[in-house]
Amino acid sequence: MLDTKKFSVFAISIIQTLQDNNFEAYLVGGCIRDVLTGITPKDFDIATNATPEEVRKIFKASRIIGKRFRLVHVFNRSELIEVATFRAGKQNSDTLVKDDTGKILRDNTWGTIQQDCHRRDFTVNALYYCPITDKIQDFHAGLKHINKKILVSIGDPQGRFEEDPVRALRAIRFSTKLDFKIDNKVKDAIYDKSYLLSGISNARLFDEFCKIFLHGHAEQNFKKLNSFGIAKYLISTDPDFSEFSMNVMLEALVNTDRRISNNQSITPGFLMAALLWPSLIKKCSNNKEINIRKFFRSMDEVLRDQHQLTAIPRKFQTYIKDIWVLQLKLESRIGQYPHKLVKHPRFRAAYDFLLIREAAAKEDSSIGDWWTKFQNQNDDEREAVITKLSNERENESDKKFGFSSELI
Ligand code: ATP
Ligand code: MG
Repeated sequence: MLDTKKFSVFAISIIQTLQDNNFEAYLVGGCIRDVLTGITPKDFDIATNATPEEVRKIFKASRIIGKRFRLVHVFNRSELIEVATFRAGKQNSDTLVKDDTGKILRDNTWGTIQQDCHRRDFTVNALYYCPITDKIQDFHAGLKHINKKILVSIGDPQGRFEEDPVRALRAIRFSTKLDFKIDNKVKDAIYDKSYLLSGISNARLFDEFCKIFLHGHAEQNFKKLNSFGIAKYLISTDPDFSEFSMNVMLEALVNTDRRISNNQSITPGFLMAALLWPSLIKKCSNNKEINIRKFFRSMDEVLRDQHQLTAIPRKFQTYIKDIWVLQLKLESRIGQYPHKLVKHPRFRAAYDFLLIREAAAKEDSSIGDWWTKFQNQNDDEREAVITKLSNERENESDKKFGFSSELI
């Protein structure tokens, strides 16, 4: 019934081995949903009645991870498969640990497949598939909802989102990725319960940030997040940003999607630099000019605010600051500096961001053009354009060279 060629051979071999050891084992969740909707799955999750310790014993190359939700990573040289033990979930409410907002803090009580399917978020994510017998188990009408292209919660979404508010973000992400409608009750729960996202760890929200914005549907997800008023849980934005600021953000998201569809590299650092740029500029400019001292002082502040929402790994913080500072240097182009700048390891990224800012401004593209040409010129030609630029500036000595106001 299902095209097994779309499934990882390694994942199927893990299922076979677990079954050979007299355990139940299924492919579950996103990979089944994706294959049924015509998408090639990227990762594979297995559900089994073997405990983490039992799984660990069977597979030499494996490791037990997680506290809140213990599971086993089984890996070979090129793949990593998550093997999770069936959970009893609500059926065993004595051992399900929640905080006073209803958030599940720990869920490590083993159960049966019938119990396990209740704790999954959406009906389309609760399909269990055995690749050996080619049979699907569907306890919550997931197949029907796939046909109807609708995202439906398992159980009352209000309560389910209290247990884990990240499900609101997942709902938006899946509806975009699958092109599914969101069931009205789920929509209501997104409106009602998303405020609880402020209680989610910044590390988990950074993971979700990457899933939402770095998988090819950034623009659409951003628009949906905004329509529910919840982008603020992932990006520290300001409700009174100028139209230009919104354009910079959108342009960066569109650019990310385009790069993904062209198989070009992407990094969360670049996107964050772009998404946070309006916040940085707002802190250090008066709509016309940038106060350079404030610019440098505000960088850490902006990063700190964002880090409170979504952790920003340290290596990206340095990268982001490099891109920001280079925006100033790309603009000033003083003396011999352009020669050095093109050799800077972040030049390419900074130049790409300059083009995004200019595209967002929809008018002035002279500096980007200048750099586009400069990169393709020989040494003599470069020398000539630098001299030309400094002469022009001398002639216009009364004009203050700073940041062009169109780009603020
Ligand atoms: P993708 O891998 O495309 O992000 P996925 O559905 O596979 O989508 P995973 O995070 O890999 O998502 O989780 C695998 C499965 O585990 C899900 O399909 C779902 O059944 C269950 N699951 C994951 N996270 C949650 C959650 N926060 N609440 C309830 N169930 C979840
Ligand atoms: Mg998955």
